[in-house]
Amino acid sequence: MTRRAKVFVSRIIPEAGLGRVRAACDVDVWQDALPPPYDVLKSRVFGVEGILSTLNDQIDDELMDAAGDSLKVISQMSVGVDNIDVVAAHRRGIKVGNTPGVLTDATADIAMALLLAAARRIVEGVEYIQSGHWRTWEPMGLLGGDLSGATLGLIGLGRIGRAVARRARGFEMRLVAHSPSCPAEEAAALGVTLVSLEQVLREADYLSIHVPLKPDTRHMIDRDRLALMKKSAILINTARGAIVDQMALYDAVKNRDIGGAALDVTDPEPIPLNDPLLTLPNVIVVPHIGSASHRTRDKMAAMAAENLLAGLAGHSLPNEV
Ligand code: NAP
Repeated sequence: MTRRAKVFVSRIIPEAGLGRVRAACDVDVWQDALPPPYDVLKSRVFGVEGILSTLNDQIDDELMDAAGDSLKVISQMSVGVDNIDVVAAHRRGIKVGNTPGVLTDATADIAMALLLAAARRIVEGVEYIQSGHWRTWEPMGLLGGDLSGATLGLIGLGRIGRAVARRARGFEMRLVAHSPSCPAEEAAALGVTLVSLEQVLREADYLSIHVPLKPDTRHMIDRDRLALMKKSAILINTARGAIVDQMALYDAVKNRDIGGAALDVTDPEPIPLNDPLLTLPNVIVVPHIGSASHRTRDKMAAMAAENLLAGLAGHSLPNEV
């Protein structure tokens, strides 16, 4: 009988991935709805060869120590890997995989959904009805912003930023972006003009963030940069919460220095129920559902399984970080 590699899967994931891992490995699957606490994760990964992780798992040097020398591969079911100390993993010869591309459309859809919901005050409209305030069609009620002719500023013109640009063109928006390594001709082909970060902030009626969370993007949108934005501008974040200084965002919206915000991601997650951002009517927060479509999650799980199995077999990963 061939030896089956011991792996830990940190959440119940779609069968499209879990089934493949189960068929090939000796699997320990974390069964709770909530992710394993760090100390529990440390004890569960002892002696494994592979970990199939999610963005909730803190995978640092200490955790890799706890796993021991057997650990060959960490396969994350997301494109962002800011929860993993990738440098430490590579130093130990551990491969790290992620799931780029398959979640691009779903995440771009959520960015557009948030943009439209914030611009046209959808959530306020629902609450208006539920609180019994809707009495008649109102010539002056719940007025919002238009998309056509408005400027969408993108920070990060990678896979998701570009997919948002393609969608926004259909809404006849003007597009500017800051993304230093993007070739100007590729941006131009999408109808996007590349400008400085400051110019994006100054010109955007809607600002959408699509950079990874890294040391240089943590609090990239801080108090000073928020101050550059138009008073009517709406900030949309579907990347990672910590890219925006959330307290500064609260102050900017509260003081009407910007027009509002719509967030799929917060810092921390989940956002505490007493976070002052949740008291503002012109802030929409949804619970990190960027990639949450049936098809996308199936593809992410399958891709994470492929990366895991390739790493266990000593091969290079189809999607290696
Ligand atoms: P990507 O293709 O790597 O695109 C990121 C882009 O940002 C790249 O073009 C990158 O340029 C650029 N960039 C990096 N640092 C920058 C900076 N300081 N200023 C301006 N641009 C910068 O990644 P993606 O697939 O589009 O995903 C982007 C992020 O979205 C992920 O890292 C993840 O955190 C987040 N995400 C969230 C969800 C969700 O559920 N809400 C789902 C998927 C992804 P270089 O190539 O030169 O670095």
